[in-house]
Amino acid sequence: MAATPSTKLQHLIYRSFLTSALIPLVVIELVLLCIYFGITHYISLKYRDTLLQEATTSLQEITSREAWSIDSQLRDVTRHAVIMQRDHERFFRDRNACNLPQGEPQFRRHANGALYKSENNGGASLYYSSATSIGPEEMRKARCSEALDPLLESIVRSTPIISQAYLNTRDDMNRLYPFMPDAPGQYGPVLKMRDYNFYYEADEEHNPERKPVWTGAYLDPAGQGWMTSVIVPIYNGDRLEGVSGLDVTIESFIKHVLDLRMSWDAKPFLVDDKGTILAMPASVETIFGLRELTRHEYEENIRTTIEKPSEYSIFNIRDTTIAEQMKRVFNFRHRISEMDTGGASYLVSQEIVPETGWRLITLVDKAVIFGKIDDFRRFTNAIGYAAVALMAAFYAAFFLFLQRKSVRMARRIATPIERLTELTSTLLGTRRPPALEEVGIAEIDHLGKNFHEMGAQLDERTRELIESRIREQRKESQAEQLEWLAITDRLTGIYNRLKLDTVLQAEIDRGRRTERHFGIMMLDIDHFKLINDSYGHQTGDDILKHLAQLLKAGIRGTDTVGRWGGEEFMVICPETDEQGLLNLAEKLRQTIDSHTFPVIGKLTVSFGVSANQPDDGISDIIARADKALYTAKHLGRNRVEKCPALLH
Ligand code: GH3
Ligand code: MG
Ligand code: MG
Repeated sequence: MAATPSTKLQHLIYRSFLTSALIPLVVIELVLLCIYFGITHYISLKYRDTLLQEATTSLQEITSREAWSIDSQLRDVTRHAVIMQRDHERFFRDRNACNLPQGEPQFRRHANGALYKSENNGGASLYYSSATSIGPEEMRKARCSEALDPLLESIVRSTPIISQAYLNTRDDMNRLYPFMPDAPGQYGPVLKMRDYNFYYEADEEHNPERKPVWTGAYLDPAGQGWMTSVIVPIYNGDRLEGVSGLDVTIESFIKHVLDLRMSWDAKPFLVDDKGTILAMPASVETIFGLRELTRHEYEENIRTTIEKPSEYSIFNIRDTTIAEQMKRVFNFRHRISEMDTGGASYLVSQEIVPETGWRLITLVDKAVIFGKIDDFRRFTNAIGYAAVALMAAFYAAFFLFLQRKSVRMARRIATPIERLTELTSTLLGTRRPPALEEVGIAEIDHLGKNFHEMGAQLDERTRELIESRIREQRKESQAEQLEWLAITDRLTGIYNRLKLDTVLQAEIDRGRRTERHFGIMMLDIDHFKLINDSYGHQTGDDILKHLAQLLKAGIRGTDTVGRWGGEEFMVICPETDEQGLLNLAEKLRQTIDSHTFPVIGKLTVSFGVSANQPDDGISDIIARADKALYTAKHLGRNRVEKCPALLH
């Protein structure tokens, strides 16, 4: 197993501070933030869906309610047109009736040749084109059609959106309420009814069913501006006598639509069945990049139908992406769809006005729908980001605080431990470790105290141990010295007689147990007295020392040599029989004999040997060796003799 790499205590504490305090907190905070953002996101998405749903429903309701309102007004106008149609047809059928409700009208020829009613008698104005030759029949028609005026008047007065009511005849007579003071001036000398949409759209060819017809938007020749009319054909049998109509000035009619304050700031606009914009508020003008034609300068008489220019078609809007989307809205007839302009996205609702086939279209900017939720989202996001910023600042501060705290804590713990480590190295010496300063951490202070105590005790015990060792050693060496002194001959340094006795006794004891042979030899220097006498006592001592070393060198490791006394020596030879003793003694004798001693030169020694006998005591074997030595001396010295058996 690999050894765990050692870490510094400070890092350990720092890491544990970090992992135990900072990381769990950060994780919890992050999770809370995620939950917060997740929930607000979810709520805003749900809220968005709900708002869109609500806006869609509400927009659809508003649009259809307004379309219905427009439709009901238009139907009202149509109903009046039908009443008027009946009245005018009766006039043409009943040729003899001539009721003049306002009295006798005054007719005059205008300078341009047109006939007209010169005085306002409270009824309608009358105009006859100068191209029509006025005979008695025409005059009768002009005069007796005064009977139509009360109905024209009551229709115009009772219905605010109807601005004019009129009859146009096939021979280009125009009866129009309210009274137009200078009709020839307005119309010019010639008016050809068939050239105008408010006539021909109801004729036999264009309207065989003879029903009321709504015209497109056109410029009113009577000077009332942009206009639409419901027109009805006036038949006398199969003969089309003329076309009557009620004019609705788009501007006034639509005004209330344009002025509508709709929920969601919805922007309504009205288009006809061909997609031509009939009315739009300024806000829609901005979206479409188009200025509504509200006025027309009547510089000269209008000779034919002037319709709205083609750029007022929603299909021809300059911004082609808007035009394309409008075309799709128009063609697919979805009640709710969407439209994107460059900068904004709109919810589009459309409703057909059944009476005319017009469409009321409303646009709602999605930013308005989602305004509240976007505000809410911005607000919650701001709170979230503020929380993130606060958190970041808090954790930065907390991180620094922890770091400082951990460094301080680590130092507080590590310093005494390092000190203890230092002190342990002083323990290796003999110096007593000093006391550790207290750091205020119970365990560490306790450890420091114990350590100091332990150091002191260790020091004490070490000292005692060393002293007792010294004492013991001293004792041992004294005993050894005493023992050495007891068994050593002072002069020669070899064993003394005491030791020789001990060894001899041990050999005798062993010989008794094992019946093994051993033997001794006694040596005596020949004529030593002469040496002393001739060379002095000191030289005698030196010769004794010299001979002792010579003997020590000549014997085996198992043999023991010692000074018996004076100039006599003994050698004890274990495991040696008589012959062996004789051989060894002879060898030693020759060695000494051939050796040259300092000062004196030559020296000889006599040997008496004796092997042990069963039941020997120390004195027995010594006595025999002594006897043999005596024999050797007697027989002339410098020789080896054994004790004869009979002597035993
Ligand atoms: P022999 O051949 O018969 O042994 O003759 P010897 O002279 O050796 O014998 P003797 O016993 O007459 O003399 C022994 C002498 O040894 C006497 C004594 O002065 C001497 N001697 C004994 N011990 C010592 C000693 O320790 N140092 C010295 N220098 N001489 C000693
Ligand atoms: Mg002697
Ligand atoms: Mg002697």
